Amino acid sequence: MTEPGGEEVGAAKARLIMELRGEGITDTRVLSALERVPRERFVPDAFREHAWDNTSLPIRQGQTISQPYVVAFMTQALMVNDRQRVLEIGTGSGYQTAVLSQLCRRVYTIERYRSLQKEAESLFNDLKLKNITARVGDGHKGWLEQAPFDRIIVTAAPAVLPDVLAAQLGEEGIMIVPVGRDGGEQHILRVTRKGGELRSETLLPVRFVPLVAGIAKEG
Ligand code: SAH
Repeated sequence: MTEPGGEEVGAAKARLIMELRGEGITDTRVLSALERVPRERFVPDAFREHAWDNTSLPIRQGQTISQPYVVAFMTQALMVNDRQRVLEIGTGSGYQTAVLSQLCRRVYTIERYRSLQKEAESLFNDLKLKNITARVGDGHKGWLEQAPFDRIIVTAAPAVLPDVLAAQLGEEGIMIVPVGRDGGEQHILRVTRKGGELRSETLLPVRFVPLVAGIAKEG
């Protein structure tokens, strides 16, 4: 991108990608997706100079854009390819959505705050990311009209694994979800559906904002 400060972005980006490699992100498709998506566009102006730091940052409505390492880790764990349809719960800034859009056929993403959903959607249009369908809704319900999904990724933490979402996972489908109480211990789980059975692996301790019931009231 040739924006003011482009050179600094280039250096900060290279540093981040190297750091992610060192932390065990080995999937080159994931690394190059992170390289391509302009994270500086997804963070609030006040934090733009930190856009390529390996940290989470605040966005509106008291929510957060996830740490690049966690985005890379979850995306790698999802084992997604360009034939697959992915459901994401918790659009937030839209950053994780944009990363996924580089790697799969189509991303369906749900956000409970209309303001965040609108902002993310206009950014997707700006960046010409055409394989994203975004809507406002309660992610607990999933997206029945579009189910089953090859992959599901949840970027807010439910206290327990949501059955409704697991039910929208296709055969051989994989769901990546941080599970645990708000402020308590949370772990990223990888849930795999095989022959009607669900297998669950615990991958990484994390801290996410909670998955909250219902569409948010605003204004
Ligand atoms: N993937 C995002 C992470 C945003 S934080 C990013 O990269 O920026 C998690 C988001 O999940 C928040 O925006 C929050 O409003 C949203 N969320 C929480 N509960 C939800 C629910 N039940 N349905 C849809 N979105 C939800």
